[in-house]
Amino acid sequence: MRSVEGTVLQLRCSKCHSSFPTFVPVGDTDYVTADVVVASSAGKKDLFVTCLSHEEIHGQVGEKVVLHRFSRDSHRDNLVLLRLLRAENPQIPSGLSFQNFRRAYGPPKFFYSCIKCSGESEVVDNMSISAFRGNGGIINAIGVELREPT
Ligand SMILES: [Zn+2]
Repeated sequence: MRSVEGTVLQLRCSKCHSSFPTFVPVGDTDYVTADVVVASSAGKKDLFVTCLSHEEIHGQVGEKVVLHRFSRDSHRDNLVLLRLLRAENPQIPSGLSFQNFRRAYGPPKFFYSCIKCSGESEVVDNMSISAFRGNGGIINAIGVELREPT
């Protein structure tokens, strides 16, 4: 079975203020992580995680097929795919001294879809898989083994 290293992010929507978790793979390259699909429902602390198969990726309809499969297997009709929408690099004004440049420089900010509305959600916290589970969170990993980053 394929194994994916990752972490759980707590997200908050800037539009409707919903707060919800998602799983994100921690990989060296986009190639490693691009086919991981995560779904959940508003108000639940459970995540469904799987990897698209080769056919699903190349069929262009992969995510919809996977969502349908999750819904069927879990008997839930309110699952929503959680997607990474965009990454924003920090705005660094030109002409800064090196010290101020260092202060302004940071990792990119990631924006995810919202579980309830069409808004964007931001990362407010991140935790290990075991901390999430210890907190009552459930991760249903389907056809994939999820591990803490080494
Ligand atoms: Zn929202």
